[in-house]
Amino acid sequence: MGQVLLAAPRGYCAGVERAIITVEEALRRFGSPVYVRKQIVHNTFVVDDLSRRGAIFVDELDEVPDGALVVFSAHGVSPAVKQEAARRGLRTIDATCPLVTKVHKEAVRMAEAGFEIVLIGHAEHEEVEGTLGEAPERIHVMDPASPGEVRTGSRRLSWLSQTTLAVDETLQAVEKLRERHPDLVDPPSDDICYASQNRQEAITSIAPRCELVIVVGSANSSNSQRLVDVALNAGAGAAYLVDRAAHADERWLDGVRTVGVSSGASVPEGLVAELLDWLAARGFADVQPVTVTEETLTFSLPLELRSNRKPG
Ligand code: SF4
Repeated sequence: MGQVLLAAPRGYCAGVERAIITVEEALRRFGSPVYVRKQIVHNTFVVDDLSRRGAIFVDELDEVPDGALVVFSAHGVSPAVKQEAARRGLRTIDATCPLVTKVHKEAVRMAEAGFEIVLIGHAEHEEVEGTLGEAPERIHVMDPASPGEVRTGSRRLSWLSQTTLAVDETLQAVEKLRERHPDLVDPPSDDICYASQNRQEAITSIAPRCELVIVVGSANSSNSQRLVDVALNAGAGAAYLVDRAAHADERWLDGVRTVGVSSGASVPEGLVAELLDWLAARGFADVQPVTVTEETLTFSLPLELRSNRKPG
């Protein structure tokens, strides 16, 4: 019979909770349909659930009818998207995580102070697209796995990062960047959010004891994918990402005595419970929680939902 080490913190962060409640509250107050630009958070289950309740997920604003209500996702949007919404007269509610907004503000501040900025992150990720849009002529997106050289002209160089990267990989990327640009200026604080850091720390604490780690999360969830990378780097024998327990493979359990379990910041706890049931049915019923820290942070809802004000 095997054991399960259940990492904590795991699952919902404050930004995801706020974004999901924002869509629920918008549906409650204004009724269906509520349009949502991009997936509100990167989790298939959450998106399907909100769709059933009247949310309509779109990729771009041109899919939103004139006069409709649209929510911007937790990952943030570029100023161009906000301007387009205003030009179209759309009613908007911005569910951007405040920790992403902080990076946007820092990008604007640095650009105004005359810096070229390296934004360490994944170019195709919505968060990076949004931050890039704050100062596209000054920001150079750099994949953490391949830091290179940047043409800065006479300007000083600084850096920012996507909020959900792996801490170690990001610090290594910064050091490589510094080798090429010795006068690189550090930002006042790094941008990897508390939730990404805590989930990585928790999985690092269990991974060396696990022949197998299973992370619950969707394939397009950056922070969930990083948990798999971090588990492998920390010594897990194998690590996999699954959207639901049904996607786990019994063969992964061959010869395994200890399984580590965690979940990304956009994953409802019910999906972890589902995986624990799946493991229990296969002889892994002994679940030991391993908690590295407690989280208490919460964010207030977007301004548009804090009063009787109509979104606009
Ligand atoms: S993972 Fe971090 S940045 Fe992203 S929504 Fe959660 S708290 Fe905000």
